[in-house]
Amino acid sequence: MKYIDMNEFQDCKIPKLTVKNIVGNFKTVTRHRNLVRKYCFKMGLYWQGLTHDLSKYSPSEFWISARYYQGNRSPHAALREQFGFSPGWLHHKGRNKHHYEYWLDFKKNTPGNISPCKMPDRYIAEMVADRIAACRIYEGDKYTLSSPLAYYNKAPEANLLHPYTREKLEMFLHMIEEKGEDYTCNYIRHNFLHKK
Ligand SMILES: [Zn+2]
Repeated sequence: MKYIDMNEFQDCKIPKLTVKNIVGNFKTVTRHRNLVRKYCFKMGLYWQGLTHDLSKYSPSEFWISARYYQGNRSPHAALREQFGFSPGWLHHKGRNKHHYEYWLDFKKNTPGNISPCKMPDRYIAEMVADRIAACRIYEGDKYTLSSPLAYYNKAPEANLLHPYTREKLEMFLHMIEEKGEDYTCNYIRHNFLHKK
């Protein structure tokens, strides 16, 4: 049974699975995980570094992402352009606590009665590692220390972030730009997460 069967949507042509796409998706996911692991380890987050984004290998995320494999951007972006949503992303953000979208829940007397909850610090840290790695992989040679902040500023989703989460995320993205990745990872490890 498929998580969401895209054939139920009218007028849709789903790209074929090819060996190239399957290999490309597998390599991109694995390269991303390797890079996130490196940054998480610098922050002292060993378990999260090892388990980051494992759901990308699950059938519900892997096969649809392989069909829409792009190489230079997320396959979810292409899915959203075609269908208005990405089933792979809905599956992903519901299972991975390093995405702030995971932390949206019902709350009375807020717009739409849905509101962001405060993210635990260790997932804010993993989100920072995730953003550096994603920018590095998608931007390649064009990556600079300003890239993670620039990516965030391109689509500020301020109303979906809890004020505490937003404050910390913006602080770390500025810190990367101004003081570099190693400094930021060290700061997160010792001053934010209070790890040895
Ligand atoms: Zn993720």
